[in-house]
Amino acid sequence: MKPDLPSCEVLVIGAGPAALAISAALADRGVNLRGLAVLDPAAPWPNTYGIWGPELDALGLQDLLEHRWSDCRSDFSGPQQSLPPTCHGIDYGLFDRARLQAHWLDRCRAAGMVWEQGEATGIVHDRDGSTVTARDGRQWRARLVIDASGHQPVFLRRPDEGPVAGQAAYGIVGTFTAPPVQAGQFVLMDYRSDHLSPAEREAGPPTFLYAMDLGGGRFFVEETSLALAPPVPYDELRQRLERRLTHAGVAVITVEHEEFCLFPMNLPLPDLTQQVVGFGGAASLVHPASGYLVGALLRRAPELAQVIADGLADPALDAPALARCAWQALWPLELRRKHALYRFGLEKLMRYPEDQLRLFFRTFFSLPTAQWYGFLTNTLSLPQLIAAMLRLFAVAPWSVRWGLMQQQGRELALLLRLISS
Ligand SMILES: Cc1cc2nc3c(=O)[nH]c(=O)nc-3n(C[C@H](O)[C@H](O)[C@H](O)COP(=O)(O)OP(=O)(O)OC[C@H]3O[C@@H](n4cnc5c(N)ncnc54)[C@H](O)[C@@H]3O)c2cc1C
Repeated sequence: MKPDLPSCEVLVIGAGPAALAISAALADRGVNLRGLAVLDPAAPWPNTYGIWGPELDALGLQDLLEHRWSDCRSDFSGPQQSLPPTCHGIDYGLFDRARLQAHWLDRCRAAGMVWEQGEATGIVHDRDGSTVTARDGRQWRARLVIDASGHQPVFLRRPDEGPVAGQAAYGIVGTFTAPPVQAGQFVLMDYRSDHLSPAEREAGPPTFLYAMDLGGGRFFVEETSLALAPPVPYDELRQRLERRLTHAGVAVITVEHEEFCLFPMNLPLPDLTQQVVGFGGAASLVHPASGYLVGALLRRAPELAQVIADGLADPALDAPALARCAWQALWPLELRRKHALYRFGLEKLMRYPEDQLRLFFRTFFSLPTAQWYGFLTNTLSLPQLIAAMLRLFAVAPWSVRWGLMQQQGRELALLLRLISS
């Protein structure tokens, strides 16, 4: 280490959920840490984060939820159709953002972690570690740098594999002249589109309502496009939400909060040989078929932190070797193969017209709960994931099967990664 610069074992870039999750896990293991972030790590986060209840139950962290719903459903009825809703039979929750932030930040503080406020702009590596420079010229040394600066990371490199699909959503928390969803209900996907003309439906893109009763007369309603490249513009989502509400005879009274959501769904994996390690959106950890991340952060931060702590204690490992160990722990072969399979699945979904998409999801949620839940939370083993996908194929209507069989664009290349990566 250069003696003239402030130094630490691990420097974490960012102060979002990923940065805090990995920092807390490293702090728990006694690693000498420092953070560098544009904003104060205690500044409130703008996004609302949702998660399936059992993901938190399994970690004993159910107290991090602000809201929890047992009546969780979706509606996949087509135009002029009224199918029974799909009841998911699993709880869904919304995080208490401040509590989630404190859950991680308190552990960092207890370990004496220092956060520098600034924008990382430069990094230089050598065999002993890395030197990071901020826009104002300050510099720090670390054995390992973890880039958790979000979906467009400041330092991490990843290959260009063509257009990246964005999950886009526009939502409001507010009060309404009538309940937009039933009391006590959470709606994961309402794909009904009677509020659109046949021509609009035909022209696409398919969007759905994600909505929940927050209690006290407040509701969160959000028009969402699962994934599209280029992403659906906010204006279109806003108009669709307004028309959906009007069609249901619901008018907005007050808007307490507007949410503009856009993040990449199918980012390629980063280059796993680089000396800076990533975590969170930066490291392509967002589930490429569902868009969820926070459950993965809670589950995966401890295992990655343990590998890093062990590597730091091993004098035989130089800085590049330490980074390789960390990448290997973050993206082992099985996870890389599952990532390719999920990306393959998303390519299919993006091609489906609205009626097939509805059929697809009705079939998907008719799978045994353990299969669809494991698929969405990325908690199945590779053989289990393949079994779930084969079962889906076997029970799907022919139009959905036909779409699954056709190979277009980069789908074949993604499938080949199953055997070659
Ligand atoms: C509106 C919205 C809703 C979402 N809802 C959910 C959900 O319900 N459930 C779920 O699991 N996922 C959800 N996601 C997806 C994902 O969980 C979020 O995108 C999540 O915020 C990603 O976390 P992150 O820490 O990787 O990145 P970010 O939250 O983007 O944090 C990046 C951090 O790095 C800092 N930074 C950036 N550049 C620099 C730099 N050069 N130097 C220093 N600091 C820097 C930023 O200031 C920030 O603190 C949602 C995403 C959005 C946008």
